[in-house]
Amino acid sequence: MTTVNGGISFWYAAGGVPLPRAPLPGDTDADVVVVGGGFTGLWTAYYLKQALPSLRITVLEARFCGYGASGRNGGWLYNGVAGRDRYARLHGHDAAVRLQRAMNGAVDEVVRVAAAERIEAAVRRGGVLEVACSPAQLARLRAYHAREAAFGETDRLLLDAAEAADRVRVAGALGGTWTPHGARVQPAELLRGLAAAVERLGVAVHESTPVTGIRPGRAVTAHGTVRAPYVLRCTEGFTASLAGQRRTWLPMNSSMIVTEPLPPRVWAAIGWEGCETLGDMAHAYMYAQRTADGRIALGGRGVPYRFGSRTDHDGRTDPRTLAALREVLARLFPAAAGVPVAHTWSGVLGVPRDWCASVHLDRGSGLGWAGGYVGSGVAASNLAGRTLRDLVLRASGAGADSELTGLPWVGHRVRRWEPEPLRWAGVRGLYAAYRGADRRESAGRSAATDPVARLADRVSGRH
Ligand SMILES: Cc1cc2nc3c(=O)[nH]c(=O)nc-3n(C[C@H](O)[C@H](O)[C@H](O)COP(=O)(O)OP(=O)(O)OC[C@H]3O[C@@H](n4cnc5c(N)ncnc54)[C@H](O)[C@@H]3O)c2cc1C
Repeated sequence: MTTVNGGISFWYAAGGVPLPRAPLPGDTDADVVVVGGGFTGLWTAYYLKQALPSLRITVLEARFCGYGASGRNGGWLYNGVAGRDRYARLHGHDAAVRLQRAMNGAVDEVVRVAAAERIEAAVRRGGVLEVACSPAQLARLRAYHAREAAFGETDRLLLDAAEAADRVRVAGALGGTWTPHGARVQPAELLRGLAAAVERLGVAVHESTPVTGIRPGRAVTAHGTVRAPYVLRCTEGFTASLAGQRRTWLPMNSSMIVTEPLPPRVWAAIGWEGCETLGDMAHAYMYAQRTADGRIALGGRGVPYRFGSRTDHDGRTDPRTLAALREVLARLFPAAAGVPVAHTWSGVLGVPRDWCASVHLDRGSGLGWAGGYVGSGVAASNLAGRTLRDLVLRASGAGADSELTGLPWVGHRVRRWEPEPLRWAGVRGLYAAYRGADRRESAGRSAATDPVARLADRVSGRH
């Protein structure tokens, strides 16, 4: 059986990619123009239009809504937010706690809207299970649990090996943590339903319309220019392709595989009845979900970064990455080792130089953005969309300061990435270091984190 490679992602395999909506018909005026039809852009349009139905909002999408990471991800709707601990250092513990609580609420909010808008996205609230598969991973996991408890996340449980296996039998797992703040979703269906809800509200969504220039007061395309006082850049991993943004957020690659449906005897060996989203504590970590139709979808880093911030071709994946992910699947789930891999694909997520997600609106120019979620964007984009709503309403005089406009990720600025070839060499070196550290930790008995990984964390600015 051959493995489908690319085709955007497996999440489109059953229904096919959507037929593109009509492109921008020509020059037009709007109150807000949103560039990018992923979760960030669509949540922003959704909440803005609900708040002020008279607003004229236009979404411009280069390909089709869900073409980017939003239609390709692992379907972890969870409460992680990139940079929380750095925000605690910069703005104090209470500010970081407010951000974390808002993220916990974002998981609930997405689940609520999916139900209210009747979006069939295989939402299953099983929480998030993270397991440790070596003594070093176990030490990190325990330290992580202790830090989260001290931070105030007291509903996160520490599980011993047997308790973790009661949920999912991962070969070699020595323990785990579980938090209720997570759900499994079928991301492309969530995105498709959200785009339809946005259109029902009266937002103009134009696809096959790449924006070639973002300037104060306008978004320029080959089909025409949209003039609007607010222009919001919601292009996350694709941001580097916009003029002037090449070194803003690094397009980090992530790759996935999905198996054919597992036979009942294999599921009996694995468990996973709760459909928790599942991850490990490796430096180049894996993330996985049990799909609604009984497959394992599993992702990891693969080729981390392409020279010059290039992106993949519609999700096409390097055969070595496919082989590496297959190896991870077989190692963690030996019972599934013989089950064919149905599909492999890749996508890009946005990584800022300090690994901190941010939301911003410049009152003077009307230019705004949100993103840099570093692989935690499914729920964070919802919080970002509501935050951009409040920022636009405040700037236009239709709103005031809110709880969301006061979150510490609002207005955060960070230096740009290094120019090439430093960027390429740095990121390739970083992940080579992480892979080597993971190998040594798996083979060894030491509970200490590999010193090379510790150094890599420090040099990269990741922690
Ligand atoms: C393989 C993979 C797995 C992941 N797994 C998870 C996960 O399980 N959980 C999680 O929380 N996060 C995950 N992420 C990250 C998450 O998917 C993203 O952070 C999130 O979807 C970003 O949404 P977005 O709308 O900001 O960007 P995107 O979804 O990438 O959308 C950007 C859109 O902008 C469009 N665009 C680009 N340039 C232009 C232009 N010039 N003009 C007009 N439109 C343009 C693109 O076509 C695209 O549709 C994963 C990412 C990847 C790649």
